[in-house]
Amino acid sequence: MPTNPNTVPQHTEGLRWPVEPAQGGWYTDAEHQALLKVWTESDDWRTGWKQCAYCGAFEDAFAAHTGVEHAVSFNSGGTAMEMVLRHLQLAPEDEVISCALNFVGPHIAVIGQGGRLVLAEPDPVTLNLDPADTERVMSQHTRAILITHWNGAVADLRPFLDLAAAHPHPVHGPPVVIVDAARACGGRTPSGARVGAEGWATVFSFESKKLMTTLGQGGMVTTSDPKLAERLRWLRAYGGRDQWGTNQMLSKAQAAVGLVQLSRLDEMNSARVLRAHSRTRALADIEELTLPPTLDNGQHLYYRHNLLVPEKWAGAGRHELMNHLANRYGVGSIISDPVTYLGHGLIREHTRGQRCPRAEQLAARLLCPILHPRISPGDEAAICCAIRQATADLVRTRPTD
Ligand SMILES: *Cc1c(COP(=O)(O)O)cnc(C)c1O
Repeated sequence: MPTNPNTVPQHTEGLRWPVEPAQGGWYTDAEHQALLKVWTESDDWRTGWKQCAYCGAFEDAFAAHTGVEHAVSFNSGGTAMEMVLRHLQLAPEDEVISCALNFVGPHIAVIGQGGRLVLAEPDPVTLNLDPADTERVMSQHTRAILITHWNGAVADLRPFLDLAAAHPHPVHGPPVVIVDAARACGGRTPSGARVGAEGWATVFSFESKKLMTTLGQGGMVTTSDPKLAERLRWLRAYGGRDQWGTNQMLSKAQAAVGLVQLSRLDEMNSARVLRAHSRTRALADIEELTLPPTLDNGQHLYYRHNLLVPEKWAGAGRHELMNHLANRYGVGSIISDPVTYLGHGLIREHTRGQRCPRAEQLAARLLCPILHPRISPGDEAAICCAIRQATADLVRTRPTD
């Protein structure tokens, strides 16, 4: 095993409250009925599963819900991000700036599309990309700023849009702002708009663990750029008559379920936010733990409830706390996510010479115990109790002062 302090320990076996990848969505009778309907309609050789009016309806509903002109569905958030970046036709010197503390997917996509990945530091409170550090790494080669709404905390895009306007690329003009909103579907930006209504392109995921899900996989791009929307529609369907493309279509069954999930999204998000805020209150007096910010009005959807341990516990102490939570109390937690270039060989190779010490330090202190809107209030109380106890146990063996 590598000795990287940010390697994710696995806590998935036999836990009372398991964490990723066990963590799933939230379906009701309405989704079951929608699925049964599409099944009945499609289970006929004259019809089949292909012709997808449901996909169009889902896209229209998603665009309306977001308040944006275009929504284009994909079979995953990963392929959607890849195709958005493909549209930029990145040359090897073209740079895409992204936060070092991230899911590996968007970083692999930049590398896969032939661009140069440029890493920047996170904001210490929201863990979102820091505008000041973004400015530090901007150059005449910057083509895009890729902002991930970290674990449900919605980033303010305005400083990035200003930075882009102030640093135009000599050929392509201002860098585009691409948003990875896989963990913030339904959220609102500080200016009150829905996530997905601002920036050049926003990518969503409906994978099993996300805030709304379409039977385990699925994705969407929103944009107000008609050229991008049209290109994406061809890219996911074999390129039309003369261009490259492949098959990245969402299925009819997924779209039918997605329509129902979208209608329930705000309700599901509210339940999660309530749960997160109550956990923050329950843990507020534990001196050792830094809790996520309490943001209202959809500005934080708490895809994760991030905890940061004291600097003295960074790395080994944090691991001990996670192990203790799992082994003694049955509470699963995850480091979501470690710094990408330390944990992933391809990203490390492509970012040689770049370091983000603040991101490394924060990642070494980070743990995210399971949070889900369907955990019962009794179980939630037990989880909070376990976090309190496990922290107190650790204080005894690892004093912080
Ligand atoms: C889940 C996720 C993705 C990828 O979405 P998939 O649909 O699983 O491909 C990208 N970025 C972030 C931040 C995610 O959480």
